Amino acid sequence: MRPDLGLGEGYHSPQVEVAVRLNTNESPIPPPQAWVRAVQDQVGRIAWHRYPDRGAWALRKAVAGLHGVAPEQVWCANGSNEVLQTLLLAYGGPGRTAAVWEPTYALHRHIAELTGTTVLEGSRGPDLGLDRDGVLRMIEAGRPTVTFLCSPNNPTGEAADRDLVIDVIAAAPGLVVVDEAYGQFAPWSAADLVAEDVPLVVTRTYSKTWSLAGLRLGYCLAPAQVVAGMERASLPYHLDSFTQVAGLLALDYVADMERRVAQIVGQRGRLAAALRHLPVDLWRSDANFVLFRPQGRSGDEVWSGLLDRSVLVRNCGSWPGLVGCLRVTVGTPEENDAFLAALTEVLA
Ligand code: PMP
Repeated sequence: MRPDLGLGEGYHSPQVEVAVRLNTNESPIPPPQAWVRAVQDQVGRIAWHRYPDRGAWALRKAVAGLHGVAPEQVWCANGSNEVLQTLLLAYGGPGRTAAVWEPTYALHRHIAELTGTTVLEGSRGPDLGLDRDGVLRMIEAGRPTVTFLCSPNNPTGEAADRDLVIDVIAAAPGLVVVDEAYGQFAPWSAADLVAEDVPLVVTRTYSKTWSLAGLRLGYCLAPAQVVAGMERASLPYHLDSFTQVAGLLALDYVADMERRVAQIVGQRGRLAAALRHLPVDLWRSDANFVLFRPQGRSGDEVWSGLLDRSVLVRNCGSWPGLVGCLRVTVGTPEENDAFLAALTEVLA
């Protein structure tokens, strides 16, 4: 192994067999059966002996239509993680820096390290929100090549302020990446700010709101020149024919997706309201998960107590600044009931 990679464990969340799995921010609701049938139908028509459309143009055109941008401003890959990796392959690398504010999505740092990009690390404020002046100061002093903002932020949950994002774009000397894996759950999106003369990349995924974590599809919206750079850094035919077809067909079900999002946002409110009656610290969420910290009890102990009751949540205790914190994904009403009942018991 490359010595500079060290022998860290990498990034993964333990996958254990449990009745209620609320640890990886997936959608608790499967995609519509009509979509499954449409995919089955289309699979029979794929020219399997041929390489896929290298540019994935049909999919890109449809995604572009969804966001009102040009197809040349869209790039699709195997999950938004691959989008982020390709971005840093093209624009990061040795001698360049990527700025992150911890605690945030661990893959930003991980992919930076994998690609030999120096990580410039800042901290979120004591309330875990971004401190505007501190962020701008770090950008001014560190001159990062790539600046990562995660909005809503995983694992803390809140969306960045629009004004802050605009100020960061103005101040940053290089690209600003707004990771919107949870964008549809939030009150606003940076997607509207994407334009040819703005050094902004907004990443999105099919894994959460589209209920398609099993498909591995994500994309970004960015100036065409930035997308062209990513194309040069990606492997030929990186996105297979099946993923292209299935992802395209998913976009026929926007109304279903929006209904699921509304249901999850409703359940998020219910979950937060119930947590307020328990002895936990709680953070505001604009995403499909809620971060909380049991008061007077260790996070590890509560995490294990939940697991004993067949409820799996994410133990965030090892993330910077999150000692004792747990993150629960919003599930179905029944899953949320089971989680709340188990938590009430563990905290009693
Ligand atoms: N960004 C953030 C903030 C995430 O939380 C996740 C999923 N954990 C991803 C990107 C990656 O999503 P995917 O690769 O499934 O599209």
